[in-house]
Amino acid sequence: MTTAEIITIGTELLLGETADTNTRFLARTLRGLGVDLFRTTTIGDNLGRIAAAIRESMERAEIIITTGGLGPTVDDPTRRAVAEAVGAPLEYRPELWEQIQRTVRRYGRVPGENQKRQAYLPRGALAIENPVGTAPAFIFETDKNAIIALPGVPREMETLMTQAVIPYLQRRFGLHEILKIRTLHCSGVGESAVDEKIGDLETLANPTVGLAAHSGVIDIRIAAKAESEAEADRQIAALEADIRARLGADIFGADEQTLEAVTLQVAAQRGWTLACFEAGLAGALTERLSRVESSAYLGGERSDAPPSDLAAATASTRARFGALAGLGVSLTIETETIAVHLCLQTETGQQERRLTYGGHPRNAPRWAANMALDWLRRAALEAA
Ligand code: AMP
Ligand code: MG
Repeated sequence: MTTAEIITIGTELLLGETADTNTRFLARTLRGLGVDLFRTTTIGDNLGRIAAAIRESMERAEIIITTGGLGPTVDDPTRRAVAEAVGAPLEYRPELWEQIQRTVRRYGRVPGENQKRQAYLPRGALAIENPVGTAPAFIFETDKNAIIALPGVPREMETLMTQAVIPYLQRRFGLHEILKIRTLHCSGVGESAVDEKIGDLETLANPTVGLAAHSGVIDIRIAAKAESEAEADRQIAALEADIRARLGADIFGADEQTLEAVTLQVAAQRGWTLACFEAGLAGALTERLSRVESSAYLGGERSDAPPSDLAAATASTRARFGALAGLGVSLTIETETIAVHLCLQTETGQQERRLTYGGHPRNAPRWAANMALDWLRRAALEAA
């Protein structure tokens, strides 16, 4: 399998001034091409350290993609660092200087003499014309490696990657595998409980199965590599059927589906309409529900302080909106415990639950809302 490393360059990244979004974009792009990403590195605008990082990456991986450091100033060291890493001198390319001057004039400016630096590339490099900026990007090929130097500006980097680099990589490395991802979402169940049921699948080589927890929602990510999309779909479908058989109603949806949308859909199938009362959640429940396009959700009420009687508050909200079902959630965060009190009212009666949350207080409102939604969802499923 073809392997890659990413090196993002820029002191502003190390200072925490700029968030490194380039790594995320490149990682996802490489993933989609079926390339195995070994490592990502972030490094400041320092010639020696960049050259050393490139040399190390060349030992480990075939494709090295750098971003940043291609500007016209002295502290834009990537051209020189690549030259040093591969042992090629920098060479002036008059046709690149022509191109840079044309672009700069098109922006209505006069090309400065320092921009001429951008017309120097390591000898033998393939220039990639930059239609969206002045800095020419380039590819340096060795027997084993392709070192691809892209600009730091995300929009420029993404354009060059999509238009020039992806087709290049597909040709040079014969990339015809594709990677497809399907994510199943679970709620009302802990990560360790999911892990217990599907742990044996998490060691598969292809497709791979991985877990990620987000405040009461557990994602199961199935990633399949295959020669064709149809083959990847087949592999995913087989594994998904197995996982669904093991987890049943713990799985509420897949990919773009959200817990609030699925819950309202299941409620609507029962003929339920819903009103919600929330306290201490700052909209974490009612705002999510009101963003869903569903006639099942009639509305909600918010309070900052916990009500003295959650069941009464829920009943009053339910009556106000004339809903068949009512859901009440009250969250109290104290130094020692984060307590969640839930109340569910349906045509068959009323139930209450008390839970404690062990995570960070910041995530408690979302967790409480997820617990409430999951309870309603399961009640609606059982009412069938
Ligand atoms: P450079 O090509 O190094 O001149 O970078 C130009 C600009 O692109 C910087 O000032 C940053 O704002 C932005 N930039 C550079 N690297 C990254 C990165 N890894 N992620 C997001 N933005 C970046
Ligand atoms: Mg820079």
